Amino acid sequence: MAPIVMICRRWPRVISVLNFFIKLDRSCILDKVVFIDPFFWLVYCLKQFAGGEAKFAFPTLIFAKISWLHDKIKNFFLGVKHVSRALEIGILEGDDIGLEVVPETIKVMRVAAKKAALDIHWHPIPIGRKAFDELGNTMPEGTLDRLDSLDGWVLGPIGHQAYPKNNPHSINPHPILRRHYDLFANIRPAKSYQGIASLYNDVDLILVRENNEGFPPDRNLHLGYGEFRPTPDMTISLRVITRQGSRKVARAAFELASTRPRKIVTAVHKDTVFKLGCGMFAEECRLMAQQFPSVSFNEVLVDTMAAKLIMKPQQFDVIVTTNTFGDILSDAACALVGGLGLAPGLSAGPERAMAQATHGSAPDIAGKGIANPYAMIMSGQMLLSWLGHKHQVPAAIKAAQLMELATENVMKAGQCLTRDLGGTASTVQMGDAIAQELARL
Ligand code: ATP
Repeated sequence: MAPIVMICRRWPRVISVLNFFIKLDRSCILDKVVFIDPFFWLVYCLKQFAGGEAKFAFPTLIFAKISWLHDKIKNFFLGVKHVSRALEIGILEGDDIGLEVVPETIKVMRVAAKKAALDIHWHPIPIGRKAFDELGNTMPEGTLDRLDSLDGWVLGPIGHQAYPKNNPHSINPHPILRRHYDLFANIRPAKSYQGIASLYNDVDLILVRENNEGFPPDRNLHLGYGEFRPTPDMTISLRVITRQGSRKVARAAFELASTRPRKIVTAVHKDTVFKLGCGMFAEECRLMAQQFPSVSFNEVLVDTMAAKLIMKPQQFDVIVTTNTFGDILSDAACALVGGLGLAPGLSAGPERAMAQATHGSAPDIAGKGIANPYAMIMSGQMLLSWLGHKHQVPAAIKAAQLMELATENVMKAGQCLTRDLGGTASTVQMGDAIAQELARL
């Protein structure tokens, strides 16, 4: 029997088509089911007709028709012309202000998704202190299995400093997530907004930080800990730089710069002193520059960068650097435009991405309802944009654009801002204002 070909864009549809088939004709034997995209299906059908095997092509036509009708009806009710693949997104609230800013982020993302006719299947996953208290583990068993089935997730800030000490079940989850999913690029924008008090009103840069190597001892080794104390008075911290890691983050920076108007990459390192480590990183950046002739490339030593970033940040477009240099410089960059509440971030890898604001869990302001949700909301925005481009889901790109516009409008209007931005609004009020603006667009 010839294979029966189905056009299925996601598993629920596969199952409904299978159900339909079986109900339609129980005597039909599914000899072989092949999942292909619509173009190949069309070619297959034509081939079947041309070969006189219309009886096998016919059922596929019925399914195609049902699939097409389903889309049309859905489109009609949603008022759009095109329905995209659904995105599977996890919600991991994290700790302290994470419990306040993540719900606002999801609220805004939901409105954006509805506006853009984007299907998102949400998956709340316990993590952090709450998970420890309720389930006995800051990263409960099965978390990675659940994340495996997702396209990406929103991770609230993690307050691991306050986790119970010397307990194998109270680990810091985010380095594990970064490594397990090879989230090698930490993308951190810093942008000025009109009306927001800041040192500069014309900064628009993105820092791309290598995420899994460098100095952080809890994530730079496959096994073991990258810092140790051979004698009571001596500590050795290992810094890891690899060609592959440097190349990957350099590529991410050049790809990003090539989509931006100014198209400039600045590599930051200190190869005059760290001749091998920084030297290797710089070499890989230079090699990558040759592959992107439309992007201009320059290099700045990290200490010089500290001064240049404070004195004339407008000259930078995309900055690429190693882990710890990037961690420090990205906090400095967001301080230039209004503070940590304005610092979104995305950790991206080959398959998945994780929205994670640059700021920490800010226990000093947790529970007061005053945390600025901007950074987390815009991290969610970056996630939708990344997923939209990665999986070619135009509705996700549209949702991200709407989120950006709505957030920008609320910032410019200046009516509903949290205290760190000079306003009096609560976290929820600012989230509501952005969601309402989105609905209005
Ligand atoms: P980590 O080491 O985990 O990155 P951190 O030591 O950099 O954390 P944060 O938790 O980021 O510290 O907080 C630093 C300060 O910035 C806090 O005391 C808080 O006042 C402020 N802050 C951080 N995030 C926000 C926010 N979303 N809204 C308002 N203020 C914030």
